[in-house]
Amino acid sequence: MVHGSGEWEDQTGCISIPIYQSATFKHKGLNQSTGYDYSRLQNPTREELEKTIAKLEGGKEGLAFSTGMAAIDCVARLLKPGEHIIISDDLYGGTYRLFEDVYKVYGIESTYVDTTDLEKITMELKDNTKAIYMETPSNPMMKVSDIGKISALAKEKGLITIVDNTFLTPYFQRPMDFGADIVVHSGTKFLGGHNDTLAGLLVASREDLIEKLRFTQVSIGATLSPFDSWLILRGIKTLAIRLEKQQENAKHIALWLKNCDAVEKVYYPGFKEHEGYEISLKQTSGFGSIISFTVKEKKAIGKVLEEVEIVTFAESLGGVESLITYPYLQTHASIPEEIRNRMGVTDKLLRLSVGIENVNDIIYDLSKSLN
Ligand SMILES: *Cc1c(COP(=O)(O)O)cnc(C)c1O
Repeated sequence: MVHGSGEWEDQTGCISIPIYQSATFKHKGLNQSTGYDYSRLQNPTREELEKTIAKLEGGKEGLAFSTGMAAIDCVARLLKPGEHIIISDDLYGGTYRLFEDVYKVYGIESTYVDTTDLEKITMELKDNTKAIYMETPSNPMMKVSDIGKISALAKEKGLITIVDNTFLTPYFQRPMDFGADIVVHSGTKFLGGHNDTLAGLLVASREDLIEKLRFTQVSIGATLSPFDSWLILRGIKTLAIRLEKQQENAKHIALWLKNCDAVEKVYYPGFKEHEGYEISLKQTSGFGSIISFTVKEKKAIGKVLEEVEIVTFAESLGGVESLITYPYLQTHASIPEEIRNRMGVTDKLLRLSVGIENVNDIIYDLSKSLN
């Protein structure tokens, strides 16, 4: 993580890769190319990030996009009209919106399934099913799906398995080790890690998939800029220590919340009683630092969101700064109320992304409005 792909070097000996802020590249002669022609197609800084994420995820090649949604959009385009995809029912609201409100009209069918239940997935398979898309742990209910079992089922049926690995990153979870074909990331979150850059990343395990995905990436053009590629590379250098510290803080805070009178239920996969605990032990090396919890009284929501001082009331997650969000009206607002309620994304749910601040400061900050 600290040294990136390990493949890159230049004559100056610089430790940090330069930001190749060039839109285009000079040709020495007819039919000659340095390997770089135009930055939508290839750019050395972006390429280093693409190689780095591929190496970290254990995939063949990586691709970097301007946002996480652009990366997910690129994956969605693997499907043709008339084809069907199974998607985790508890999932980032933007991904739901993409499949429901953008791709449905183009004839791409999607079914939202509780992917923690293999039987439910099997029941929803159709002749035209092409792929299974899951988030694990899921956003925001922290449900854990068994990547190995789902990938095995998908292989048997000839389907592509796609995992959104934003919440744990390859530091804690490598879906390809368990058979996933494609891993997607919102690089905006833990990989960037500083709440200052938007980015999306994709890694595929197979050459045929990479070829299609890269073609779509450069044709559509939502590629990551050289500067933003550099920022994500810089973020990745400290991924390990940030995630360790964030997780350590999160474990304390999850316990504290569990014992807090105003709190009804805490969703954190690091609890032994969490439904996905055993699967987590099998497929991850950590539980991460996202905690969702419900409060007993709805009026506590506004109080917490307005009174926090160290924790910030803002969308997003994964950065060094602790953020708290209200999924019901923010990240998951585009999901119909009935589905939100069924999933547990109610008007009493808060999602906390724990940062690297002093843990006692965070707890004190929350305690002022929760106690
Ligand atoms: C934020 C997020 C996305 C979307 O990424 P952007 O960078 O905001 O486009 C997708 N999946 C998950 C799990 C996310 O948290």
